[in-house]
Amino acid sequence: MTDDSGQSQNSTNLGLDPNRLSMLDKDGSRSRIIPAEVTGYWMKRRNAVYTFLIVLFLFLPWTKINGEQTILLDIPNRKFALFGITFWAHDAPMIFLIVAIFAFGLTLITSIWGRVWCGWACPQTVFIDFIYRRIERWVEGDYIQRRQLNSSELSFNKIFKLTIKWFLFFIVSSLIAHSFTAYFVGSDQLTKWVYSGDISAHQTTFLIVLFITAVLLFDFGWFREQFCIIMCPYGRFQSVLMDQRSLAVLYDEKRGEPRKGLENPEKPRGDCVSCNRCVQVCPTGIDIRKGLQMECIACTACIDACDTIMTKVNKPKGLIKYATVSGKTNHIYKGRQLLYLAICVALFAALLYLVSVRKSVDVAILRAQDTPYQTVETATGKKILNHFKLHSKNQNTKDLKQEIFFPPELNLEVRMQSNPYEIKGGESLTTHFFILFDPAILDSTGAKKINLKIKTVSHPDEETELSQEISLIGPNQPKREGL
Ligand code: SF4
Ligand code: SF4
Repeated sequence: MTDDSGQSQNSTNLGLDPNRLSMLDKDGSRSRIIPAEVTGYWMKRRNAVYTFLIVLFLFLPWTKINGEQTILLDIPNRKFALFGITFWAHDAPMIFLIVAIFAFGLTLITSIWGRVWCGWACPQTVFIDFIYRRIERWVEGDYIQRRQLNSSELSFNKIFKLTIKWFLFFIVSSLIAHSFTAYFVGSDQLTKWVYSGDISAHQTTFLIVLFITAVLLFDFGWFREQFCIIMCPYGRFQSVLMDQRSLAVLYDEKRGEPRKGLENPEKPRGDCVSCNRCVQVCPTGIDIRKGLQMECIACTACIDACDTIMTKVNKPKGLIKYATVSGKTNHIYKGRQLLYLAICVALFAALLYLVSVRKSVDVAILRAQDTPYQTVETATGKKILNHFKLHSKNQNTKDLKQEIFFPPELNLEVRMQSNPYEIKGGESLTTHFFILFDPAILDSTGAKKINLKIKTVSHPDEETELSQEISLIGPNQPKREGL
């Protein structure tokens, strides 16, 4: 059933069954929601935030800090660059801390400010509201024209408008898909592949971009509010994270009821004039006057719509507003919010600590697990052989060259596969070396501590030197596990 504008009655929630989802008709089929345009105080602010977020999302992968992409999630090479710091797979504890901070931060924000993420920052809301609906308006007209077109029979005009709309949707989806892919393969690489024009050489990436484009077209172009209502896991968590003191978009029932048309006209009426404007602008098709609902993404469209009506009927604004169910608000310094905050601060402190102690090159030399020493007969007499294991980690993105220097005055003979040796960016190297020495250098306890100098050249101009002490051991020494 449709109203004069072509919107199904269900979508406008006139006589809505409270047990049925707002987007469904009586027979269970989808009732397409085409929200009316809205302007106002919150819309202006939302548009500013959306513009900022879209620009940020599209341009961030094309920017660099310290020569590295600002955000790069290179999963095949297990390399993650975040604002000038590069993490590798062996930095899993730090990556875990970042994810945990994000999760607890979102929990904290939701418990105080409700679904602010959904209405103000979720890509689903941002892209649909700011880009896809604008294209729709531009091609098909205002919400009344769009609703009429939606319910009209197939005609040349309808096919023409739908073709233009979906073509523009495709262009936008493809651009978003390219930027999204750049976060994972790197913008330099992606640009090279795109300009090479050789699809067969980069088939996998091409198919991934195509797949993301198709998913975006499906979701932002057609599926829309259904994702928020039936699929979004975060939406499902709301009832757990929010309580009666969390901020939400609410209708002031005391002030609004009894609304016009529901009660005897002789009786005093509330401020709601039953214009249904708040329902018409709602992107999830609900009636906020029925109370807080899971489908509400707190987009504030109904606040602006109702404020406009209140201004027209000379009543104060705020019949629908940001408020809490209990009238009291949660504070960041009380109750569970304080606990969430403490966890966030502790996780952040742990992350800062790990970042501050993280060396760009990490070298460890340990005695090998086999015999502590061996006595060897050589042409120049009896010698002692010690076996060591070297583990070196390159946390930089560039390859480096490393060389170990042994004290020359002890005439040590060193057997090592290669010295200097190279370690690729982000990789580790484990190698073994053997030291052959004259037992005369050992002291009375049968040991000799020596200092190794490890010189690292990570860039033609960047040279660092570490030193590590090891013990040479020989006969008459009790067996020792470590150094
Ligand atoms: S009820 Fe209001 S705030 Fe909630 S989704 Fe609908 S228009 Fe947005
Ligand atoms: S927009 Fe305001 S006045 Fe109109 S129906 Fe909604 S709550 Fe009532």
